[in-house]
Amino acid sequence: MAKGKLKKSQAAFDRAKKSIAGGVNSPVRAFRAVGGTPPFIAKARGSHLTDIDGNDYIDFVASWGPLILGHAHPAVVEAIERAARDGSTFGAPTTRETALAEEIKDAFPSIDLLRMTSSGTEAVMSAVRLARAFTGRTRLVKFDGCYHGHSDSLLVKAGSGATTFGHPSSPGVPPALARNTLSLRYNDANAVADVLKRHGDDVAAVIVEPVAGNMGVVPPADGFLQALRRLTRKCGALLIFDEVITGFRIARGGAQQRFGVSPDLTVLGKIIGGGLPVGCFGGRKDVMEKLSPLGPVYQAGTLSGNPLAMAAGLATLKELRNPGVYPRLETKSRLLADGLAGEAKRSGLAVTSNRVGSMMTLFFTPHRVANYDDALRSDTVRFARFHAGMLARGVYLAPSQFEAAFVSTAHAAADLRAAVRAAGEIFAELAESPS
Ligand SMILES: *Cc1c(COP(=O)(O)O)cnc(C)c1O
Repeated sequence: MAKGKLKKSQAAFDRAKKSIAGGVNSPVRAFRAVGGTPPFIAKARGSHLTDIDGNDYIDFVASWGPLILGHAHPAVVEAIERAARDGSTFGAPTTRETALAEEIKDAFPSIDLLRMTSSGTEAVMSAVRLARAFTGRTRLVKFDGCYHGHSDSLLVKAGSGATTFGHPSSPGVPPALARNTLSLRYNDANAVADVLKRHGDDVAAVIVEPVAGNMGVVPPADGFLQALRRLTRKCGALLIFDEVITGFRIARGGAQQRFGVSPDLTVLGKIIGGGLPVGCFGGRKDVMEKLSPLGPVYQAGTLSGNPLAMAAGLATLKELRNPGVYPRLETKSRLLADGLAGEAKRSGLAVTSNRVGSMMTLFFTPHRVANYDDALRSDTVRFARFHAGMLARGVYLAPSQFEAAFVSTAHAAADLRAAVRAAGEIFAELAESPS
């Protein structure tokens, strides 16, 4: 258990800030949403992290999703070591790339052809370019609270109503580009029907996280994904599932397997790289054949299909073929989610627990969370206190209310019980004091 001492981490953070913008290489790591010092990690194994002050944590971040087998899984480490000894990159084709592609295609029947990238952001950006080229259309439909990486076309928030196109959600994104992206309310199929009726001839693609993970976990409402499938087919827009989190997470074949809806294009990342930098996009043959060198749509990457990343991904996906894996993840995840909900109830604290398989979020709101507006009603001050309390008790959660907690095959029943016990103590404190 952590003792809460973060002296060395504080010094490391101060030093990092002198060379790295904000001291971090991805903003949410800076703990701005919850306050406090981010622990600097020294090493990790299985379900546990150790920081440079020697504190030990049960990890539910899993590097934001990739580590479904936990940290430093022996098979993954061995695969990376073996690949590294043979040379880390060639910029020429290797058989590992084909092996990983075949493994992905086996799990995702909607993918005829695919291409590897080095990040999810890159894969989404490329899928969008391809969809625009294939359809000869410019506009995109996305959903509030879904994250698809940080490429310009996707860093867009809703316009003033369901019929106005979007505004940049970051300075530096040209408003003219943002106007080509329309952001709608998640789980609102009527809004999609309405917009596609008006603008359908202009829409290249509808892109969605089929289970949202980036506003906290929000499952698709009954029939939502089916409606997207029907409506896009009708107007000739492509349906893109961003399964960067959900792929190999909520089922081997991702959300499309779990909910039985087949998109035109799928974006993957995180788990398929086994903890190394990878993204991938793929789908219908007639669409993917537009990609260079088969077709005119340009897309490339110096380190795409990197041998180390392919090896780590292959080793991970091989473990996930074990038929017991997903049922076991389900059992563990239910134990954790039910345990947390039970402790909250015992303390008289009103929370909402959303879970799909081994991804879950405890929202500090009594209301149902079915979209981003619902998620935003959460008490983030309470969440910050919860987060700090858990960290001090040796439980490492994502430092924001609007993120998922991930259970891995490495979590032991004792880890889950310890996390539930820690949460129970904090809930009792929170219930005593107004936020
Ligand atoms: C993480 C994520 C991305 C971006 O992937 P990176 O590898 O961080 O660029 C895209 N879409 C979803 C749904 C994600 O969760």
